Amino acid sequence: MSTKHKKNDDDELADFDEDLQTKPTTASAGDKKAANSKGYSSVNSSGFRDFVLKPEILKAIVDCGFEHPSEVQHECIPQAMIGSDVLCQAKSGMGKTAVFVISVLQQLETIEPKTMCVILCHARELAYQICQEFNRFSKYLPDVRVKSFIGGINIKTHIEQLKSETPHVVVGTPGRVLQLAKDGHLKLGNVKYFIVDECDKVLESEEMRSDMQEIFKKTPKTKQVMMFSATLSTEMRLTAKKFMNPSSLMEVKVDSDSKLTLHGLQQYFILLKEEEKNGKLLSWLDALEFNQVVIFVRTKNRAEKLKDILEKNGFPCLTMHSDMSQDERLKQYQSFKNFEKRIMISTDLLGRGIDIQRVNIVFNYDMPDEPDSYLHRVGRAGRFGTKGLAISFISSDMPSKIGSYERTINDQEVLENIQKRFEVKIKEMPTQIDVGTYMTS
Ligand code: ADP
Ligand code: MG
Repeated sequence: MSTKHKKNDDDELADFDEDLQTKPTTASAGDKKAANSKGYSSVNSSGFRDFVLKPEILKAIVDCGFEHPSEVQHECIPQAMIGSDVLCQAKSGMGKTAVFVISVLQQLETIEPKTMCVILCHARELAYQICQEFNRFSKYLPDVRVKSFIGGINIKTHIEQLKSETPHVVVGTPGRVLQLAKDGHLKLGNVKYFIVDECDKVLESEEMRSDMQEIFKKTPKTKQVMMFSATLSTEMRLTAKKFMNPSSLMEVKVDSDSKLTLHGLQQYFILLKEEEKNGKLLSWLDALEFNQVVIFVRTKNRAEKLKDILEKNGFPCLTMHSDMSQDERLKQYQSFKNFEKRIMISTDLLGRGIDIQRVNIVFNYDMPDEPDSYLHRVGRAGRFGTKGLAISFISSDMPSKIGSYERTINDQEVLENIQKRFEVKIKEMPTQIDVGTYMTS
């Protein structure tokens, strides 16, 4: 590992110096036709009707405004709904969540109050989001009970909830789910569906992986196992398969990393010095048209400082980082999802899984170190084949140590690694950019 993350960062953001900046401009909306085309690259022409789902589910799908299944849904749902194990790697934003939500709801029997499905993921906001997806698709299946159990919330609340009602579907982070299962509050003896979202992230962390294994062992031997991610190395794939039944396994695999590039997403870099970052960011925020923006920074201190700078310049924003209380984090996430503010400054917390459809621009104010992180971050824009723009600041003098964050790689090297890994050419940001290329109208 080339990086270390520790608590108590004590870092500085360079001050904004207007004199250093040149103002970029945008071309006007010009080509309306281009802006209107949604550019769905991998939507299948067959309908959800072909899957022969429960009418209640089909009705909810219509309410969600889903017209056609995406490629990954077309490939996976028919197999998943008949109980096959699924190991699925597909681009971000193409609807992997609906694969497991729909196939579980299709199979779920709710006559008895038993926990039949466990879904694990790495982040609390994601658990919450998955729960909401279940609620959306089970709108006409009122008996289905889904609950999220995530760390950072008083465990007594969860114990009380489990005492008063047994959820059919449990969505949670591995630590909290295990704790509840160990203490006997959550009974896993009837689990038929075991799902891990962002599975490479869960498996890569020793702690989450060992918690997940323990949870897995507490569930019956015979069950359906499904795992999902946009990034899945050969090693992770092998680890994931250890949890699955080889004779009924359906593997959906992106042939090469180059196929992970999102077609609707314009990707650019800007070469600059640390002290130019704030000025460049402000002038691009002025010049670009956006619905919502996510700005990724390296540490929580940088997030808070940048928030002050942006707000002083007339851009109200939210921040999210791991030092916030769980309540606060969920509040920020929901406020962003509800479009109360249009800019979110986040550490890598928001880098995976989180789906906010109105986000059309992502800034890497600070570059990540790993190509995979880059892919997940920029995948927050251009969801479900919509258009988006990702702008990465490539700093010539990013210190290798900020507070307690250390790295052995520089931005230029990261940029090269990303281009090699995903066979994508990230170009230098032009001084003008047509809004039709990055905003779906
Ligand atoms: P992934 O997990 O693959 O990154 P998500 O499951 O978060 O993607 O889905 C991305 C977005 O696409 C969500 O807002 C979801 O509601 C939407 N979506 C998923 N499937 C469809 C579909 N068939 N038609 C329209 N929108 C869809
Ligand atoms: Mg997802």
